[in-house]
Amino acid sequence: MSSGARNEGAAAANAAVAGSSDAAVRLEPRTILPGATIGVLGGGQLGRMMALAGSAMGYRFVALDPTPDAPCGQVAEQIVAAYDDVQAARELARRADVITYEFENVDADVTAMLMAESYVPQGSALLYTTQHRLREKRAIEAAGVRVAPYAEIRGPQALREAAARFGFPCVLKTATGGYDGKGQWVIRSEAEIEPAYDALSKAKTELVLEQFIRFDKELSVIAARSPRGEIRTFPVSENVHVENILHLSIAPARVPEQVQREAEALAVRIADRLGVIGLIAVEMFWSAEHGLYVNELAPRPHNSGHYTMDACRTSQFEQHVRAICNLPLGDPALLTPVVMVNVLGRHLEPVIARLSQPDEAAARLNVKPSLHLYGKRDAAPKRKMGHVNVLASSVEDALAWIDETTIWKV
Ligand code: AMP
Repeated sequence: MSSGARNEGAAAANAAVAGSSDAAVRLEPRTILPGATIGVLGGGQLGRMMALAGSAMGYRFVALDPTPDAPCGQVAEQIVAAYDDVQAARELARRADVITYEFENVDADVTAMLMAESYVPQGSALLYTTQHRLREKRAIEAAGVRVAPYAEIRGPQALREAAARFGFPCVLKTATGGYDGKGQWVIRSEAEIEPAYDALSKAKTELVLEQFIRFDKELSVIAARSPRGEIRTFPVSENVHVENILHLSIAPARVPEQVQREAEALAVRIADRLGVIGLIAVEMFWSAEHGLYVNELAPRPHNSGHYTMDACRTSQFEQHVRAICNLPLGDPALLTPVVMVNVLGRHLEPVIARLSQPDEAAARLNVKPSLHLYGKRDAAPKRKMGHVNVLASSVEDALAWIDETTIWKV
C-alpha cells in the first residue's frame, strides 16, 4: 500500500467487514484437512517457506503475486496479478479452500471480497489493527501490555511539545507503511525536529513520537493460536539488527529465565486478547532496569522465527498451517541452540562459495550451518536472499563460526 490516504481507505473498509464477518468466522471454524488447497496472498519468501512446510503435510498451495516466478511461485501454483486486483483474488478464492496472507498491508477491497466469498480464518480485524501503529499500540495497551511511551503527532507544535516531554533522542515514525527502519527518524536534538517532521509528513499518514528506549536486548516471541483457542509460543529469540535490518536471531536468548517466561506470557496474552488465528510475532525491547516493552506486532510468520525451521520440533511455518487449518498445534520446543543469520544480496556469493566446500571451522566448532535460499534473482545488496540456521552445542559456538567466516563483516 503506497499512500496514507489509501491505507485509511483500507482501514475504513476493513473496519466495515471486521465486526460482523470476523464474528461469523469465529463461530464456524472449519477444519481443513491435508489434500486441500491453501491460497496465499503474497508470493515472497514467507509464502515459499509456508508452502514448503505445508506441502510436506499434504496441502497444495496457490499464491497471488505480481512478480512472475516469485519465490513462492517456484514451489506452488501462482496467479500473476497485482495485490489489489479483486478479480485475481476472486480466482485465488475459487481455487483455494482457505486463504491466508504473508504480509499485513493487504488491500481492503480484496479483504472484503475474500471475507464475503471465501474462508479467511484469520479475519480482517487483526490486519486492520496491525496496519497502523497507533491502532496497534492502543490494542496492545488494551490487552494490558506495556509499549514505549508515545504521542500522536498532529503538527510541528505537537511534535515540539512531545519531544520536550520525552527528551532526546526520541523516535518519530509514520503510522503506516514503514518497515526495516523506513518511515522513521531518530530525533537527536531540537534542530532535527523540523527536518524530521517535514520528511515524514510527506508520507501523508499520521505520525507517532516514541520515547527512545535504552534497551539491553531486542527480543521476539512468536505465538500461534488456533480457532479452538489453543495457544503455543516459540522460544524467545534475541534479535540483532544492522542498519535496521534483522541480522541475527539467537535462541535461547541470552536473558534471564524469568524474562523469557515474562516475554512468552506477554505474547500469549496478546494472542488471546486480540483473538489471533494463525501466528502473531511480538517484537519487544528489554531493559534490565525497566523490563519489557512491546514495539511491534506482525500477524504472520516472521524473520525472527526462521530459526525454528531447523531448531524446533515444529517450525513456525508448519505451526501457521496447523493453526489456520484448525489442526492441533505442534510442539514448539527448542531442540538445539541456534543462531539464524540473514543472507542479504551482498552475502549471497560468499555464502554459497563457503557452504559448497568442506568447512574446517564448522567441523572444529561442531556447528551445522543449514542454508535456506529464497530463489530471488536480483541480489540487490540489502535484499533478503536467504538465511543460514547455524545449529551448535552453544550459541557462542554458532556466533564464533559466523565470525570466523568474515562473510557478515561487510
Ligand atoms: P520498528 O520499525 O518500529 O521495528 O523499528 C526499527 C528498529 O528501530 C527497532 O528494531 C529498534 O532497533 C529501533 N527502535 C524503534 N523504536 C525505538 C524506540 N522507541 N526506542 C529505541 N529504539 C527503537
